[in-house]
Amino acid sequence: MPRYAMAIDLSLCVGCAACAVACKMENEVPPGAFNLWIRERELGTFPDLTVEFRPEQCLHCENPPCVPVCPTGASYQTPEGLVLVDPKKCIACGACVAACPYDARYLHPGGYVSKCTFCAHRLAQGKVPACVETCPTLCRTFGDLDDPNSPVSQALRQANRVDVLRPEMHTRPKLFYLNAPSKKGLSKESEVRHD
Ligand code: SF4
Ligand code: SF4
Repeated sequence: MPRYAMAIDLSLCVGCAACAVACKMENEVPPGAFNLWIRERELGTFPDLTVEFRPEQCLHCENPPCVPVCPTGASYQTPEGLVLVDPKKCIACGACVAACPYDARYLHPGGYVSKCTFCAHRLAQGKVPACVETCPTLCRTFGDLDDPNSPVSQALRQANRVDVLRPEMHTRPKLFYLNAPSKKGLSKESEVRHD
């Protein structure tokens, strides 16, 4: 049984949003909603400046707070570690939206909650997620964390540093950021210049 995960090498990401557009098309994400978006942040002060381009989406947390809060069982975790929503069971109460610390979920106009699925439909066909396939810089890798030869395992091994968003939440994300451009790791809102 695979344990699916994704890694994004931030030293290669240029924030072109090809992944976000590919996701929109592949998953028919409605206008105004996003499974995947890019956060761009300038960090530091002259002459020590850095830009961080950080794609964000559902992290398919290993310990996902969005699952136990769901009153209907619509929000669930598969044996492969995907966190998904069954639209037929979803009553759009928004409990999972409130529980996700990463703003990964939204209310779909179809009357259910939606978000990144790690392209479960493509995985079922032996393909990688659309964002991974589309990325022109090849900064995204995907695969089975339990297979040391999977692209994601190799990328994690070769990285100079590995970060996850909000580790203090103990959600155990399975979206890993590699080689963050700032020596301090991933940017936080409190460090961002608003000038
Ligand atoms: S990122 Fe949010 S929606 Fe995705 S698994 Fe984690 S808590 Fe759930
Ligand atoms: S909005 Fe849907 S998936 Fe989310 S908690 Fe409510 S019923 Fe479950």
